[in-house]
Amino acid sequence: MTTKATIHQYLKQQKSLYGSELYLSQDPVPTPVVEATSNPEMVADPANGLDKYNKSICECMECPLGSTRTNFVFGVGDMNADLMLVGEAPGQQEDLKGEPFVGRAGKLLDDILRAINLKRGQGVYIANVLKCRPPNNRDPLPSEVEKCEPYLQKQIRLIQPKLIVALGRVAGKTLLKLDVPLKELRGKTHDYNGTPLRVTYHPAALLRNSNFKPPTWEDFQWIRDYLAQA
Ligand code: URA
Repeated sequence: MTTKATIHQYLKQQKSLYGSELYLSQDPVPTPVVEATSNPEMVADPANGLDKYNKSICECMECPLGSTRTNFVFGVGDMNADLMLVGEAPGQQEDLKGEPFVGRAGKLLDDILRAINLKRGQGVYIANVLKCRPPNNRDPLPSEVEKCEPYLQKQIRLIQPKLIVALGRVAGKTLLKLDVPLKELRGKTHDYNGTPLRVTYHPAALLRNSNFKPPTWEDFQWIRDYLAQA
């Protein structure tokens, strides 16, 4: 691709992400280096790795969603990730493919990650609160969360991210057990069992309302800066 075409493609991508405002970063962001694991839980027991863990739970029938799913959607990404993104639950595309955030919202999420020099599989791990799709994409029920959350907690212990980011109010309120509007969850660093947790807009919300793009971009700049010094 020519330089002009590359710049054009970049500006088009920026516009789709952030609208007509052009955000310029003054400092080049270093590409994260992926290192071999030093996580004691993985080192002490390699059989306890993420794949093994997935295999041990992927036939789960602890709640009724087990009998309606096509695929158990465990999670995807870098087992040494500094950043763990947590969505709500698989939707139709995710249920069919067995991978989180693969639909339109997922493509936007990938664009946002690219804008802070990250990508799924490199410095980032993506999972959901629920591993199975709720019918008609309804909100997770407390009884489903109760059964499924231990899986997420174990993933977090295996990955040991430096930061968890809850995508959307449902993920935020579910993880933090705080039933408040998203505005009250954003802009603060919460604690999730000892790991710092931030809440930002769900990418699907950005597709519905582009007014959410600038605050989301602020959140991801904060995330980028936090990870650079963590
Ligand atoms: N929405 C979510 O919260 N998670 C997905 O995996 C897809 C859409």
